[in-house]
Amino acid sequence: MIPSAVWRPFTQHAVEPNPPLIARAEGAWLTTADGRRILDAISSWWVTTHGHRHPAIMAAIRGATETLDQIIFAGLTHEAAERLARELVQVAPAGLCHVFFSDSGSTAIEVALKMALGAFRNRGEPRTRIAALEGGYHGDTIGAMSVGERGVFNAAYEPLLFEVERIPFPAPGREQSAYDALERAGRRGGLAALLVEPLVLGAGGMRIYKPAALAELARLARAAGALVIADEVMTGWGRTGTLFACEQAGVSPDILCTSKGLTGGAIPLAATLATAEIFEAHWSTDRSRTFFHSSSYTANPIACAAALANLAVWRDEPVAKRVAALAAAQEARIRRFENDPRFTNARTCGTIAAVDLKVGDAGYLAEIGPRLRAFFLSRGLLARPLGDVVYLMPPYCVTEAELDLLYDSIAEAPDAVGLAR
Ligand SMILES: *Cc1c(COP(=O)(O)O)cnc(C)c1O
Repeated sequence: MIPSAVWRPFTQHAVEPNPPLIARAEGAWLTTADGRRILDAISSWWVTTHGHRHPAIMAAIRGATETLDQIIFAGLTHEAAERLARELVQVAPAGLCHVFFSDSGSTAIEVALKMALGAFRNRGEPRTRIAALEGGYHGDTIGAMSVGERGVFNAAYEPLLFEVERIPFPAPGREQSAYDALERAGRRGGLAALLVEPLVLGAGGMRIYKPAALAELARLARAAGALVIADEVMTGWGRTGTLFACEQAGVSPDILCTSKGLTGGAIPLAATLATAEIFEAHWSTDRSRTFFHSSSYTANPIACAAALANLAVWRDEPVAKRVAALAAAQEARIRRFENDPRFTNARTCGTIAAVDLKVGDAGYLAEIGPRLRAFFLSRGLLARPLGDVVYLMPPYCVTEAELDLLYDSIAEAPDAVGLAR
């Protein structure tokens, strides 16, 4: 075999074998070049919502290529972006009425942070500090890493990262310390924004908190004069049971970031939505107040067409029903681990289910990831536990029988990878 020239993401090439070569994707399934089928239990890193290669989204992409490729989006516009912005404003939490397009979740976060600081600077208010939840994850560019949890993943880049106000995770029943920390951060002054993943910290281990806690954090941030930025990059598009997770808390953020499921997971696109106040803070005949951000592929017409098709799927197909059915199916199945001594902390939030493996020796934890992945793959399942957290975040087209395959394999996993009982 020809050695791969590819440097893969989050992959230690010295210890991980070459991955399967995927030749086809359809619905919840991937097929390798040599014909093996793999059930995608993690929606290909949380992007695929309806299923791989949804026909309407694929057709929209093909259709878009008949008329446009990339066109510069400063000084020119195109119909797909105009329509998509209007439609996003319609489905987003109230008050978000301007849409800035970029191309990844990390970029959407960078844009959000720049909007927040830009708005205060343009108003002559010296607010530059960001508060963020402990254990949060917002992407892997420098700004996004800065606001995320620090650890082995970003230790080498620490000198480049800016400081943030860390708010303890508002664990159910222990929310008060989060509230207190946010109030203290507010009193220190200069707080520009609270950035949160609403309801679920994704990469931080599928840690779930209550809508009421999100509402209280948003209230406290605003009481301190700060903006609320919702990172809905993972939680958006039905993952937590509602189109956006903020809805469950009755929170309308000042800025909302969306990406992953925005095109149904077909093609990269991101959007950062903002209120009129934030847009207007940049509105001026003074050119120095311009929002100085761009990426080459801003509002790519083909990606915008895919996102429009995704919105049409949400309107035309019973997606909300599928989401509710998947949520109920996950909830019913994760319970089997509640009294299993090898597991702890079985939980769900909408379509997301997670359970923690009991791993005695923390040093062993690092080794267990590749072994778990290999075990699941040997069963024809694509899963990627986060440390000791085994989670399922399948596309909404997954069937109950397919879920049973996944849950039966999770039940076998601890013994298969040699975790002591
Ligand atoms: C994945 C993710 C990001 C980063 O998105 P990319 O497209 O990978 O840059 C940001 N925030 C959250 C909550 C995410 O899950």
